[in-house]
Amino acid sequence: MISVGVAVEGIPRSADKLYEYLLAEGVSAPVGSVVTVPFGRGNHPVRGVILGDAPKDGTPPEKLKTVLSVGECYLSSEALSLIRYLRDRYFCTWFEAARCLLPTGVFGGSAKSVMSASVPDEGAAAAYMEAHYTNRKHCDVLGFLLEEGQMTVKELTYMAGVSESVVKTLAKKGLILLEKAEVLRNPLKDRPIPETPPKVVLNEEQTVAADRLISDLNSGKTHLLYGVTGSGKTHVFIRLIDEALNQGKQAVLMIPEISLTLQIVNRLYAHYGQSLAVLHSGLSMGERHDEWRRIRSGEAKVVIGTRSAVFAPVSEGSLFIIDEEQEHTYKSEASPRYHAREVAAYRVALGKGLLLLASATPSFESYYRATNGIIGFEQLTERFNGKPLPKVLVADLRREMMSGNRSCIGKTLGLELEKNLARGEQTILFMNRRGYQSHITCTSCNTVVKCPHCGIAMTYHSYNNRVVCNYCGYSTGYLSTCASCGGKRLLYSGVGTQKAEEELQRLFPGIRVCRMDADTVGGKYTREGILNDFRDKKYDVLLGTQMITKGLDFPDVTLVGVLNADMSLYTSDFRAFEKTFSLLTQVVGRAGRADKEGRAVVQTYSPAHYVLHYSFAQDYQKFYREEMALRKSLLYPPYCDLCQFCFLADTESEAFRAANDFSEDVRKKTKDDPESFPVRLILPKVTAVPLVGGKTRVRVLMKCKDTRPQRQMISDLLDQFRSRKENRDVTITADMNPVNIL
Ligand code: ADP
Ligand code: ZN
Repeated sequence: MISVGVAVEGIPRSADKLYEYLLAEGVSAPVGSVVTVPFGRGNHPVRGVILGDAPKDGTPPEKLKTVLSVGECYLSSEALSLIRYLRDRYFCTWFEAARCLLPTGVFGGSAKSVMSASVPDEGAAAAYMEAHYTNRKHCDVLGFLLEEGQMTVKELTYMAGVSESVVKTLAKKGLILLEKAEVLRNPLKDRPIPETPPKVVLNEEQTVAADRLISDLNSGKTHLLYGVTGSGKTHVFIRLIDEALNQGKQAVLMIPEISLTLQIVNRLYAHYGQSLAVLHSGLSMGERHDEWRRIRSGEAKVVIGTRSAVFAPVSEGSLFIIDEEQEHTYKSEASPRYHAREVAAYRVALGKGLLLLASATPSFESYYRATNGIIGFEQLTERFNGKPLPKVLVADLRREMMSGNRSCIGKTLGLELEKNLARGEQTILFMNRRGYQSHITCTSCNTVVKCPHCGIAMTYHSYNNRVVCNYCGYSTGYLSTCASCGGKRLLYSGVGTQKAEEELQRLFPGIRVCRMDADTVGGKYTREGILNDFRDKKYDVLLGTQMITKGLDFPDVTLVGVLNADMSLYTSDFRAFEKTFSLLTQVVGRAGRADKEGRAVVQTYSPAHYVLHYSFAQDYQKFYREEMALRKSLLYPPYCDLCQFCFLADTESEAFRAANDFSEDVRKKTKDDPESFPVRLILPKVTAVPLVGGKTRVRVLMKCKDTRPQRQMISDLLDQFRSRKENRDVTITADMNPVNIL
């Protein structure tokens, strides 16, 4: 009888191993086959993957159970190495690692169906809110929806801090309409191949970069391509991909968000036609499965996709390109908590391919490695054709506020907008609405709640339920009483995109505004439809959140306005400045990309902030130097690694108890061997977001080095923690170098 080692689904990491099973007489199943096996006392059938031989634990063969059914073999030997790599590196189980390498749908999987919510009858909702004003949860949910018009259920539950069941209850009452939001079609399906674009001749800088990269196509190395916005990085990619294909290789181009970047998908489609495959979570499961097969068979030679495309079944030695490599979407926030950059680097090193990271605002980690000779470094310093950078006008919101203008469109921006309308040129207005913001006014005495230190209007952030001063960072809990008159009725009024649109209509009657904000644009318009209409000049203004900052290239946009540049500046994340810099640089880079000169108006409460200044000048290097000095003195990445542990429990005290116990374990362990494990702990802290389901989350941050012995130590600590009885109801997770610090 032959026995095999099976990775079994649903095993906690502490019990994770390859379980030994027998294959029935006459059944053959190569390593990499998917199977079902009987598991546990009840012998329930569970899913698994054969990953090799099981370590013999002395169970006599007659006691071993037999594999119930054998499916297809999906995993190559490279995939098997990758699985070992993932498990070692990201503290996940064998099955979780294996699952990444299998085409979706093999195990039924979770086809993502995005639900969106809206209020069908605003009058009814308002009446309900009045009658049920004591039910905060219901009122919050309806309030958000009235404000936003339409949100995905995910966004809504996050913003209102409620569980999905609250939304469902309201839907049952007919107050909320739930609809299946548009699932992205395969953007290429049934689409005629566009005309082949005219052949591009690379300029000198581009040629130098491309040639050096081409000579490293078989090196197993990683390179960073640092190129200012508009320098033509995409043309370098295409040149490189062409050469890879010439050498019989496959290529994977990763982008942060597929729906925002249809332009590049279209460009590649025009180039590669049917040899192009697209992989992202918006495709139906069947479509993804088909694309997976086309890639593995080699029929599809070029793959464009999001984070998970890093696992595409391309042959060994392929070319990987990660565009906008600093984007947080490349890091998975569910187990395995992998970073596409690390996985891709591992794959190309193993198979002797090439990994190209590209950005105008690289992550500090990558730029540090590139400038210290650890990875290759190419630069594009000029915008193509030497187009000038857009001129940036800084508008001081403090002045606006003091002169009584509480509109979200300040004077400067208003004037520039007027010019654009008169000239028939287009404008993009950007609003960073991360954590919904609003002003607070007392309905009795009509005063606005202001910061006691700066006198600036404070804003309410629903994601952490705090009232914050955007200027000095002072914050306080949710307010229900007016400080000047003691009145009990405070009005929280939004400055979301919907408010901004109303404001535009009021200031410029007849202005044609298209708004793009919810996670998925439902109803009549698809996102692509909106963008096409905007390009066809059916609108004067495109107004939206983060999603409009990237990759869009509209020739007639000559003005970009940032309604509030500070929103992401004052958060507890040590990367807050880096993220803000990147965001603003990209936004400003949107203006004037074609032959017309562009300008940007940035409204801010902190006009003197260095992050803003360097981003307006698109001076990454100066910003990098200043910020790195800070990171060095405070010891933050890339000068160390940061491991985030989360403790999820029913009560706050339980979560704290667990976090404290764990910190104590770490201290003990490191005291024994301070040389090898020089760790610094940052004390546990309750995170801002109450988790869905009413559980509390506490985190412990640990500064360490992401080396094999330290990962082993962490892995041992996790096992030790999980094996204790008192921790039975606590969930602990570990995340090395998370992109979002809780
Ligand atoms: P990036 O991605 O670096 O911001 P793009 O690749 O989008 O820049 O290029 C910016 C603009 O310049 C695009 O319109 C692109 O077609 C044009 N461009 C860049 N390089 C060339 C070239 N060598 N020949 C013709 N056009 C180019
Ligand atoms: Zn203040």
